[in-house]
Order: sequence, then C-alpha cells, then structure tokens
Amino acid sequence: MDKRLLKKANLGKLIEGVTAKGGVFVAPVREAGEVYYRPVTGAEEVVLDHILPKKPFKEFFFPQTEVIASFEGHKDQVELKGYESVIEETVIFAARPCEASSTASLRSVFTWDFVDEFYTNREDRAVVMGLACIRGDRACFCTSVELAPDTTEGSDILLKETVKGDFRAEAVTDKGKAFMERHKAVFEEGGTEAVETKKIFEPEKLDVDLKRISRWLSQKANYESPLWAELSRKCVGCGACTFSCVTCHCFDITDEGTYFEGERRKNWDACQFEFFTLHAAGHNPRDTQYKRWRNRFMCKFNFYPEKFSSKGCVGCGRCIRVCPVRLDITEVMTEISRTG
Ligand code: SF4
Ligand code: SF4
Repeated sequence: MDKRLLKKANLGKLIEGVTAKGGVFVAPVREAGEVYYRPVTGAEEVVLDHILPKKPFKEFFFPQTEVIASFEGHKDQVELKGYESVIEETVIFAARPCEASSTASLRSVFTWDFVDEFYTNREDRAVVMGLACIRGDRACFCTSVELAPDTTEGSDILLKETVKGDFRAEAVTDKGKAFMERHKAVFEEGGTEAVETKKIFEPEKLDVDLKRISRWLSQKANYESPLWAELSRKCVGCGACTFSCVTCHCFDITDEGTYFEGERRKNWDACQFEFFTLHAAGHNPRDTQYKRWRNRFMCKFNFYPEKFSSKGCVGCGRCIRVCPVRLDITEVMTEISRTG
C-alpha cells in the first residue's frame, strides 16, 4: 500500500470521500488572479499550474486569528471560560514540499516550553499530501537549505505528477498509509517506479554555507556589525515577509470586548513591527528597523537550528516575492557566507 496511483479523474471522489465524513479538503484554488490554499468541495476548483500559493497553509493549523477563551465580568469577579474548538480531519492537497517540511519547525516551537494544543490538535488531525515541484522561479532556493523539490520531509503522502497528468502517491508516514488505506478505492494499484513522472524543477544551488552563516551569527561581535544596517537598509518594516513565511509563528494575545464580556484571541504578530518589542515603560530594545530585520534573520539561521535542530527557513522564496522593496534574504545569506 506504500505506492499507489491517484488518477486525476478520481480526485473528485477523494474530495467527496473526505468532505462527506465532515472533513475539510484544502487545495490550491485561483482567486482574484492569485492562488491560495482554500477548502474545496470539487476537483474543478483545484489548480496546479502555479508555483506557490500566495499564503502558506500554516493558517489551517495556526489561524491568523482565533478565540482561545472567553470571559464574563461579574460584580466582584471575572469568569474565564476555556474554549475547545472542534477539529475535523483536514487534508492539505498539493502542498509544496518545502512548506510541508516546515510543519516540523512549527511543531518544535509550539511544543517547546508549553504544548499549544490549539496548534498540535489541528496538525495531528491533518494529512499533508505534498506534491513534488515541476515548476519554480528564481526565488525558490530549497536546495540551498538542505531540502529538495521532492523531499518527503513533512508530507504524510508525497505525490508526483505522472506524464499522463495523474499522481503517483507514496505513503511517507503511518498517518499517510492509513489515509490511503481508508480511501483505497481511489488509490489504485499501479503507482510503481515504472510509471513515468514529470521532470522535477531543481532550483539553482546558491553559493551559501549554512554552517558558516550560523557560526558568524553566533559570534557576539557580529551582533553589532555594520553589515546589518547596510544589508537591511531598504526594509520598510511592513511585515509582509513574516506574514507570508511558512515558519514564522509569532503571535500576540489580546482581550477584546467590553467590561462585561469578551473574548481572548490569539493573533499573528510580526517581529518586523515597531511595537512588537515595545515595553509598557516606553523602552524598545529593537527600536530601529535593522535590529528588527537582524532578529528575523537570526531566528531563521541561528536560533532555530541551535534551539530546535529544525529549519527556520525552508527556501520557499515567499518573502522574496512579496517584499515591496525587493529585499532578498538569499543576498544576505550569500554576503554573510562570504564574510563569515
Ligand atoms: S524566510 Fe522566506 S524563504 Fe525562508 S521559509 Fe520564510 S518565507 Fe520562505
Ligand atoms: S517584506 Fe521587505 S520591507 Fe517588508 S518587513 Fe519584510 S524585508 Fe522589510
């Protein structure tokens, strides 16, 4: 059951099989000229002619905003009520392998000093079906961060498009195997290596050295290097890179409502925003943009690998594509590799 054939003509049946049991089937769809991961109910909604959806699928595990508790104010006390969300099985179809691999990075941070069940419950109920890349662009650099366009890392099932337009499906995890078994009517025999698949797009390998970057970043003297201001001087602090990044995970908790009742919400936040580190007393340890940008880079290439042994950057290139001033993280990686 490890390798099967999912015929394109059977995709609709798979969607139906998942949604009929109350599950959510998420796939890339075209919306206002862009491609996004969205819940779908039919195969005709799914598009596969894109490079990467505009936003990562992390929002299905870690929503941009969610209620985590509610409260009621009484005369002499505040009553806090926990909030339990109902999590249905969520299938992420045609996830790009780079971003599928990022689930390990998110999980490491959400289970580090505290298990954030709002995240883990969703991820545990999800089946990630990665789809190996047959197209990419100059912003893709997975091969420079020790990944590959057909990596199985993070996928429960890895799909490869066949020359006939079907999918060869390989079960990577027990969860993926069980999913294929449950839907064995659509995962047919015949997904062997002999089935010819489309040519994989291999991003050009950049002249970067991750170990060198990490070493340079861990040297105290380099924390105040003039390079930071120089390399990030274009940054306007819009936060687009953080909001579109598959591994960025910062959030804020706010209470919304009135004195009498309200909700406690967990909302995405971004280290690129000036108020992110502003203390109540008025002091801001990251009071200039280069310090905020330095933090983002250090988080990706120093804090993550040192603390979690997982990747802070998977080379998806989203931050490069969305940046309004074309600040390219690979240029900084290259420069520090050369300097370090
Ligand atoms: S830092 Fe940029 S390239 Fe790396 S994972 Fe985040 S969005 Fe993708
Ligand atoms: S998207 Fe570009 S300008 Fe905006 S915060 Fe990120 S690096 Fe700065």
